Amino acid sequence: MSLQIFTIRIGINRCYVVRDEGTILIDAGYPNRINVFRRAFRKMQIDPGEIRLIVLTHGHFDHIGCAKDLKALTGARIAMHEKDLMYLEASRFTAPPGVNLWGKLMHKLLFPFLNRASSKVPTEKVDIVLNDEDYPLDEFGVKGKIVHTPGHTPGSVSVLLDTGEAFLGCMAHNGFPFRLRPGLPIFAEDIEQIKECWKRVLQQGVKMIYPGHGPSFSVKVMEKVLRKEKVLRNEKILRK
Ligand SMILES: [Zn+2]
Ligand SMILES: [Zn+2]
Repeated sequence: MSLQIFTIRIGINRCYVVRDEGTILIDAGYPNRINVFRRAFRKMQIDPGEIRLIVLTHGHFDHIGCAKDLKALTGARIAMHEKDLMYLEASRFTAPPGVNLWGKLMHKLLFPFLNRASSKVPTEKVDIVLNDEDYPLDEFGVKGKIVHTPGHTPGSVSVLLDTGEAFLGCMAHNGFPFRLRPGLPIFAEDIEQIKECWKRVLQQGVKMIYPGHGPSFSVKVMEKVLRKEKVLRNEKILRK
C-alpha cells in the first residue's frame, strides 16, 4: 500500500494519521474532543482499531487532550518522551515563554485560559517511554522513526518518515494565531535548542513539514528562514 497522510483539524491544532503497512496517529488534540476524532475517522474511512500507536509530540494540553479517550477507542499504545510524561500522567502544565513580542503577548493573554484547559486533560499512563535515542516505527508498519527534538518542551519529539515527511509538533508554527507564515515557534522553553534540532532534522533529509499548528509546507521555506537566522551557514542539507 502506498503511504497515506490524513489531517485531523481540532480547532487550531492539527493531528495526523499516517497509514503505510500499519497505521499510527500523531497527537491527540484538545480535551473532550473525541467525537471530532470519531467523525474524522469515519469520514476518512479509518477503522479506529487499525491505529496501533499514538505518538504525542509533546505534553501541552492541546496535543494530548484526547489521549486517554483515543487509547480506549483504538486500543493503541501511547508513546511519549520521558521528559514530558508528567503532563499526561500527572496533568502538569507550564506554558512555555514567548520568544518574540507576539509570543510574549499571547503568553500573557492566554495563560489563565491555558491553565484551566490543561487541568481538563484526563491522566493516562504512557506505554512506550521514549528517551534520547531514535525509536524506529517498523514494528507498527511505518517506515520511519521518532526522534527527540527538544526545545519547545524538554520532551518534544518528531516523527520522520523515510520518504521525507516530517511531523514536528510545535517545532514550527504556521498560520494564525501564531504566525502569518511558516517559521520557528513563537513559544519555546529553549529556542536555541530548537534551532539545533532543525539543523539535525534537515541533515537527515526532509522534504515536507507537517506542523502541529497550521498547514504543511516545503522544507525549502524553513531552510530560508534558518539561513536568515544564521542557524544554517554552510552546512550540507540532505535532499530527498
Ligand atoms: Zn506546545
Ligand atoms: Zn500547540
